[in-house]
Amino acid sequence: MKLAHKLMVKPGGRVRLRDYDPDATPGIDDKDQGKQALARNVEKLAHLQYRLYAENRRSVLIIFQAMDAGGKDGVIRHVMSGLNPQGCRVIAFKAPNTEELARDFLWRIHHVVPRRGQIGIFNRSHYEDVLAVRVKKLAPKSVWSRRFDHINDFERLLADNGTRILKFFLHISRDEQLARLRKRLEDPRKHWKFDPADLEDRKRWDDYAAAYEEAIRRCCTSDAPWYVIPANHKWYRNAAVSQILVETLGEMRMKFPKPAFDVSKIVLE
Ligand code: ATP
Ligand code: MG
Repeated sequence: MKLAHKLMVKPGGRVRLRDYDPDATPGIDDKDQGKQALARNVEKLAHLQYRLYAENRRSVLIIFQAMDAGGKDGVIRHVMSGLNPQGCRVIAFKAPNTEELARDFLWRIHHVVPRRGQIGIFNRSHYEDVLAVRVKKLAPKSVWSRRFDHINDFERLLADNGTRILKFFLHISRDEQLARLRKRLEDPRKHWKFDPADLEDRKRWDDYAAAYEEAIRRCCTSDAPWYVIPANHKWYRNAAVSQILVETLGEMRMKFPKPAFDVSKIVLE
């Protein structure tokens, strides 16, 4: 069975993060196998991206969401390492600025979706508007609760326009987060990664989990599926995400465009 199928959240079902073991490694036996899979997939992704770029008709949007220290930066660094920078763009969404807050929540997002031929990678996304905004009470429920429908409509619009959307939730345990935050404090080279404000979010772990559960359940569609990736083991996280990308881009069956000239008649001197 394809890993994408195994880890995809089925549209319409209940989502309980408690039911997903962040230590699990379904479909990949051990670290060695995971590392080999990653290396193979990185190479395959390079070929697939070449076709996507050449075909120049469709695009791919990859969304990463996770609790702090969940591994968004790490997965982007490892899985995307073979991509041609000319055909992809990573966008990290921080808390919105005043210009962005003066518009609807999707304005800043729509502006940067990948153009055709391109892969867009979102480090955080419009989902923050039903996660951080909800948990930190930055908007009332009457505002954020309407956003699930807005998000589904928006993602369907992108899909209808030829964008293949994949949404990854990197699932770590609370203990694993603690271990990673501790490492950041112990290593002076990682201090810059530590944000005391993250500790406030850590206290609200259960609220975030509930917000994620609702966001994943309500916005898991066949146009834009969610994948819950067990992410306590970095090797598994990297192997699984890369595998799902290879499977999905492979299914897109990108075609090289036919030349607009007769190749046999071209004479090179
Ligand atoms: P990370 O913590 O993922 O490594 P970072 O530390 O580089 O990223 P931060 O400066 O912490 O980035 O910015 C991300 C913060 O912005 C997070 O706390 C996130 O919840 C918040 N954020 C992102 N989008 C929104 C939004 N739409 N509304 C409110 N807060 C948001
Ligand atoms: Mg942060």
